[in-house]
Amino acid sequence: MDVFKASEAELNWFLAQNLKQYSRLRNFDFGPDKRNNVSQLSKYISHRVIDEYNVVRATLGVSTFERAEKFIQEVFWRVYWKGWLEHRPTVWSDFVAFDQQDKLSSQKDNKNYLAAINGETGIECFDFWAQELRNTNYLHNHARMWFASIWIFTLGLPWQAGAQFFLKHLLDGDAASNTLGWRWVAGIQTMGKCYLARAENISKFTGERFDNARLNERALPLADEKVHVVQPIDYEVSTKQKFETLLIMDTNLNMLTRNETKNYKKIYVMSLANASRQIAISQSVVEFKQNLIKSAAQKHPHCEVLDAREAKQVLGKMPGCDVCYPFIGENLDFLHRSNDVWNIDLNFLRHHEDLFCWRFATKGFFNFKKNIPAIIKTLALS
Ligand SMILES: Cc1cc2nc3c(=O)[nH]c(=O)nc-3n(C[C@H](O)[C@H](O)[C@H](O)COP(=O)(O)OP(=O)(O)OC[C@H]3O[C@@H](n4cnc5c(N)ncnc54)[C@H](O)[C@@H]3O)c2cc1C
Repeated sequence: MDVFKASEAELNWFLAQNLKQYSRLRNFDFGPDKRNNVSQLSKYISHRVIDEYNVVRATLGVSTFERAEKFIQEVFWRVYWKGWLEHRPTVWSDFVAFDQQDKLSSQKDNKNYLAAINGETGIECFDFWAQELRNTNYLHNHARMWFASIWIFTLGLPWQAGAQFFLKHLLDGDAASNTLGWRWVAGIQTMGKCYLARAENISKFTGERFDNARLNERALPLADEKVHVVQPIDYEVSTKQKFETLLIMDTNLNMLTRNETKNYKKIYVMSLANASRQIAISQSVVEFKQNLIKSAAQKHPHCEVLDAREAKQVLGKMPGCDVCYPFIGENLDFLHRSNDVWNIDLNFLRHHEDLFCWRFATKGFFNFKKNIPAIIKTLALS
């Protein structure tokens, strides 16, 4: 399978068949067998098999902005979350430092937690989604919101443990969208405003598949004790090649299709196994990532798949290499940790599209959204 062709085919299918309905139907979760109302592209976009800008470009190739506005906005939510986290790296490092065993040490807490992840709480919709996530490695956006809300406000479990559970099983598991999505539901992302799942809303938007869930619909938002100081991004950083070797992590795979890679003598592509991660992922997610990188590597004649142990042998001996910047998350943490030992010059290359968009991601999404027409124009996406 050529992943680039597969993702393009799925995108084109969605644009031709389902884009028109997206704005009207996207909030409905009709169940795992009826997903035509959403694109299900996130497993590709989160690994940048196809990137956000090309999704928007393809969309505007077949539609006016007005007709596709809702879909384009959703795609830009992802760019926005990424930029927001880049400005506040401590939000990620605090989340990763969360010690699940310590925080769920009492017998009661641990029992509730196990019931939640095994789908045995007795709340029908929640149990269904826990199983759906484990079996299909995907949840509809609305189900993610309801699930997170029930986890936090009805079951009283820590949001961080829920976000770890998502990262373990989602094919599209992503440091920014996941961590900030959970914080948003909890009420610590938009301070003082949480998302409360309501039984009536669940019934309506699941086509009445789930009725009469008994939920805590009156909870107050959680409070974040810590202030995360905004750290300025260096917009003057290099986007230029410095070395003859390029390293690409599994968050940037379409770099292999870009013209810039033609000048490299050697390209390595990597996806981290659990031994190199802080938050373990399930076997099916590991295999999905392995298949993606194997297929992507075939795109370039000088590309080779590397694992973490080999990386030490291969990269540790070089004076330096270019690295396609993998964003805040597991991959970047791994590179920083490893480079304490390798001690080589890692020349991180950013995409100019990301750098341009992240300027607008310091405040809320409303502020970012106002700039979408300017982004489209400047980046020539239409
Ligand atoms: C608690 C919670 C956790 C989440 N965790 C992740 C995650 O780990 N990885 C992830 O990619 N998304 C995450 N999301 C966002 C969203 O749920 C998924 O991107 C979306 O459901 C993917 O399905 P789709 O491709 O069919 O989306 P579509 O509705 O078809 O949207 C198209 C694309 O837009 C982007 N997008 C849509 N909605 C959002 C959103 N709210 N935030 C960010 N990007 C969005 C995605 O790239 C998606 O593929 C999370 C949301 C919540 C509430």
